[in-house]
Amino acid sequence: MEIKIARHAGFCFGVRRAVDMAEKALEGGHRVYCLGSLIHNQQVIEKLEQKGLVTVRDSAEIPAGSVFLVRSHGIDPGIVEEIVARGGEILDATCPFVRRAQLVAKKFYDDGCDVVICGDPAHAEVVGINAWAGNSAKIIHNANEVKNLNFKGTVGVLSQTTQKKELLDNVVAELSKKTKKLAVENTICLDSSTKQAEVSALAKEVDLMIVIGGKNSSNTGKLVQLSEAQKTPTKHIETAGELQPEWFENVQKVGVAAGASTAQFLIDEVVDKIKEMC
Ligand code: SF4
Repeated sequence: MEIKIARHAGFCFGVRRAVDMAEKALEGGHRVYCLGSLIHNQQVIEKLEQKGLVTVRDSAEIPAGSVFLVRSHGIDPGIVEEIVARGGEILDATCPFVRRAQLVAKKFYDDGCDVVICGDPAHAEVVGINAWAGNSAKIIHNANEVKNLNFKGTVGVLSQTTQKKELLDNVVAELSKKTKKLAVENTICLDSSTKQAEVSALAKEVDLMIVIGGKNSSNTGKLVQLSEAQKTPTKHIETAGELQPEWFENVQKVGVAAGASTAQFLIDEVVDKIKEMC
């Protein structure tokens, strides 16, 4: 059986940078606090937590004067101000692609636009971007939702960095039916669009796709959807332990892809286990 691995499988630039910053900060034996999971990969988080990373659910849980790491998804700038006011030290690992989306949202808002974000309203990155737009944005996860919206002025549209381009295009098409005053910025990150194109192409070539990444990872979820859209049987796993021998019956070619939060050691373990099974 042939195993084909997507060229850009695994850690993206932004996640690599955030993990490197965390590891460096933890070297001195300090505790480093992070609001929410640093990356959407439980196996990597467990290793960092053993070294002193502390994941909290609420900024009030961060003791005064602590080191606080802003994760690659970015954050509401109000929370950073609050932690600084309590004597905290900030390590900002906001991915530059997310920063660009935040600044686009701020500019639209400052220019008086009605801001529309194409994305998941519950995702931390989107919550953070919306904060840069004064929490005024309309967040759309399905182009049909546009029909229920009304706008006063120019509509400024941007995207969560890991969304599919199809959503942005569909939302813009629907908005164009309602208003001619549209400003559109494609803020989908290069890594997401590259991984998505690779998975769509790879899924066409193989009999089975294995997509590795956190079950709560937005970008991994998009890769799974795109693979399934090619009508290719697709399994979403987090670790090699989830692989089932029966998945590989009558499979000549298997494709392996991995989300942006998936560490190389997890990909290697999956590939090694597939080789053992076949
Ligand atoms: S997926 Fe893109 S936006 Fe998100 S951290 Fe990685 S490079 Fe940055």
